Amino acid sequence: MSESLTTVAYLGAAILFILSLGGLSNPETSRRGNVYGMIGMALAVLATIFGPKVAAAGLGWVIAALVLGGSVGLYAAKVVKMTQMPELVALMHSLVGLAACLVGFASYVDTSIAYTGAEKVIHQVEIYIGILIGAVTFSGSLIAFGKLNGKIGGKPLLLPARHWLNLIALLVVIWFGGEFMRAETVADGMLPLAIMTVLALLFGIHMVMAIGGADMPVVVSMLNSYSGWAAAATGFMLGNDLLIVTGALVGSSGAILSYIMCTAMNRNFISVIAGGFGSGAPTPKGNGAPAEPQGEVTPVSATETAELLRDAKSVIIVPGYGMAVAQAQHTVNEIVRTLRDKGVDVRFAIHPVAGRMPGHMNVLLAEAKVPYDIVMEMDEINADFPEADVAMVIGANDIVNPAAQDDPTSPIAGMPVLEVWKAKTSIVMKRSMASGYAGVDNPLFYKDNNRMLFGDAKKMLDEVLSALRG
Ligand code: NDP
Repeated sequence: MSESLTTVAYLGAAILFILSLGGLSNPETSRRGNVYGMIGMALAVLATIFGPKVAAAGLGWVIAALVLGGSVGLYAAKVVKMTQMPELVALMHSLVGLAACLVGFASYVDTSIAYTGAEKVIHQVEIYIGILIGAVTFSGSLIAFGKLNGKIGGKPLLLPARHWLNLIALLVVIWFGGEFMRAETVADGMLPLAIMTVLALLFGIHMVMAIGGADMPVVVSMLNSYSGWAAAATGFMLGNDLLIVTGALVGSSGAILSYIMCTAMNRNFISVIAGGFGSGAPTPKGNGAPAEPQGEVTPVSATETAELLRDAKSVIIVPGYGMAVAQAQHTVNEIVRTLRDKGVDVRFAIHPVAGRMPGHMNVLLAEAKVPYDIVMEMDEINADFPEADVAMVIGANDIVNPAAQDDPTSPIAGMPVLEVWKAKTSIVMKRSMASGYAGVDNPLFYKDNNRMLFGDAKKMLDEVLSALRG
């Protein structure tokens, strides 16, 4: 394949990636977005393999790596549960970081192209920065993986003078950068490069260890952005334009997503990165009136729930992580259809961080074929709760916690929440009184107008459905 044909193919792939991102921004077009992305990636891989940079002799290696990597990817996609997706994504980001480091070292020791003058300076800067971003992404993503699957505790690790430690590490990295640029030979440059890599790896570990469990969604999205920049840096090192464009797309979309999630959780992006939030451990109570859970809860049966739903004119359903675990979305759709046939107005309220990844609930509801026009974002529907007869919460907890508004000392204080307690009656469906992801109590459960339907969401909803039909 000639150089110019490869460039045209790369251009086509870049356009497909942009269309893919555009498609993924809306549930209705997301399937199409995925297809664009798949075609774009296939085009990019084929153009690279058959392009001028891969010698015929190396083709065997490339195909072997493709088969190996492809099989691992296929296996992971088949066995990983939807709720484990953030862990898988974190692990994949770590591989992008590792690849950037390896490509950096390989391009440094590769002396087949003799760079001189300004070109040499630019090449060395690309290598140094590429390895730096790659190493931070690699170790940070591994720690994020450990935290998400519970192998590493969610509590933030707050070393004394940690900000000073980070600042000193940055200054040392800059100083060794100077040494690296001055090195005359590859052997001379290797030591500063290796020291910087170790420091960057330690920085990645320290950065993510300092972030508490409740802020992990933002961290995963931030590492997604870093992995994009690492890929862009790899593109610079390899002189591959498509990798630069794709890396920049991933880097900037990840940064935008992190910003949106920070807004949804009322976190300041800088303070998330600086760490220490979301430990789940309540901070000392101040003089305000903290919303302590008080009183008794009022349990209801599936039959009583069905009666409340049948008698309602307007119902708002709030799905959360528990609906995903129980895989109850199909039963939810059946209940919605039954109620709508009876003339009840049913809508869904989706919190931006419901579940365990952005868009988690939208994906599940789309899979169950819930009509898009009754699925509302938090801002669109929050003001409608006072008019709702029933707000039915299915396996959600943190996203409906009034303490976020009432208790300034709560670890989730300030996080925007769905105001289900303003409905005439709220029903919370969960198995026990256990807390949610952020590990905080929920005063909603004890409110007079709240009912608790205890049990697995799928099992309870099946019972509600048969009571409704009966
Ligand atoms: P939560 O984790 O707050 O609560 C989920 C609730 O579901 C639990 O209290 C649990 O209670 C219940 N549950 C679990 N399994 C079942 C089941 N089989 N049947 C019925 N109920 C069940 O989830 P939310 O969706 O309310 O909030 C999301 C949280 O996750 C937020 O804190 C968010 O910051 C965080 N997060 C979000 C990410 C994202 O990008 N969306 C990524 C990572 C974290 P019980 O055990 O009693 O059944």
